[in-house]
Amino acid sequence: MQFNHDNMTGVRLAADLANLVVEDRPGTGEVREIEAILRRHEIRRPVLTTRQAGLLRVWGVRLRAVFEASGSDERCAVINALLVERTAGAFLTTHDGLRPHLHFTPEDDDVVGRVQAATAGGLAIFTIEAEGRRLGVCARQTCVTVFVDTSRNGRRGYCCARCGNHDAVHRHRTRQAASTRR
Ligand SMILES: [Zn+2]
Ligand SMILES: [Zn+2]
Repeated sequence: MQFNHDNMTGVRLAADLANLVVEDRPGTGEVREIEAILRRHEIRRPVLTTRQAGLLRVWGVRLRAVFEASGSDERCAVINALLVERTAGAFLTTHDGLRPHLHFTPEDDDVVGRVQAATAGGLAIFTIEAEGRRLGVCARQTCVTVFVDTSRNGRRGYCCARCGNHDAVHRHRTRQAASTRR
């Protein structure tokens, strides 16, 4: 499955904001860190006040529910709530020589409004393309990192190779222990 690159920014940004709340590294969620996330996803005018950074942290919690949704219907309902609340005046644009793609809020909206619209709209389009799947939470029990699955077969279960390996080793040890007990 090939995903339209222009639509992926909002989805990947959504995952990063959803993951802000679970990382307990010192300084997480500080203004600078959230600004760095916005820059990484090429959000224009990414400078934040403390209040705006707080709003985006709260928005990250809302976005997490999209990844945690247990099926298509629930996922659509959660995204619909975000769309109703935070997208206004969607329009097509070809800025910076890109192919035509949708923006979900006027360009002069403030940074919080633009991020909220881009993430809600990006998740909506991705969910259409991915037929309600391909958003998830890491299967490792001690990890709650969310991810976007753009793999060929769409069966990704872990946020990263490290978590996948950890579980594979764990399963192997459990099997070994079971067989020596016999
Ligand atoms: Zn754009
Ligand atoms: Zn993980």
